Amino acid sequence: MTRAVVAIGSNISPRREAIRVALQRLAHTDEVRLVATSALRETDPIDAPPGSGLFVNGACLLETTLGPFELFQCLQEIEALAGRTRGTPNAPRTLDLDLILFGDSAIDTPELTVPHPRAHQRDFVLEPAAEVAPDMTHPHMGNTLAQLKAARSAGATS
Ligand code: ADP
Ligand code: MG
Repeated sequence: MTRAVVAIGSNISPRREAIRVALQRLAHTDEVRLVATSALRETDPIDAPPGSGLFVNGACLLETTLGPFELFQCLQEIEALAGRTRGTPNAPRTLDLDLILFGDSAIDTPELTVPHPRAHQRDFVLEPAAEVAPDMTHPHMGNTLAQLKAARSAGATS
């Protein structure tokens, strides 16, 4: 079993319902155990096209027997079931599921980069991720999610 952290976001209505259904789909995936879900928070869109709506963001902790690419495919299928389309970068989305950490794996391929490269710089990812897996270590930074979150809160990292 590998522990994995997934960040969840939506900024097209019905945002909370899309997230609820996505978590249910993950929980019902045979090879996945949904261990914990964070609180959901409303956040301002960052680097998004003008007029983008507010996001609802959260994260969950999974245990899975899937490999990272299989889990990533599963996340993309759940995004597709939510009607996710891909237009311009950071365009409004019904559902975004990003693989933030997969055990202590470091993956760097054109389709999948783990840890997610911007996760530790984004409060809307780091805060819910630290809520569900405070003790998981970022393999490149060498700090736990709780430490990374505390450092950002103290304004020590960019
Ligand atoms: P965003 O960066 O806003 O989440 P998308 O969801 O459209 O944008 O993802 C863009 C691309 O990022 C996807 O096609 C996917 O292949 C790639 N990607 C690379 N690493 C990851 C990851 N760890 N989690 C999710 N997507 C990833
Ligand atoms: Mg994404």
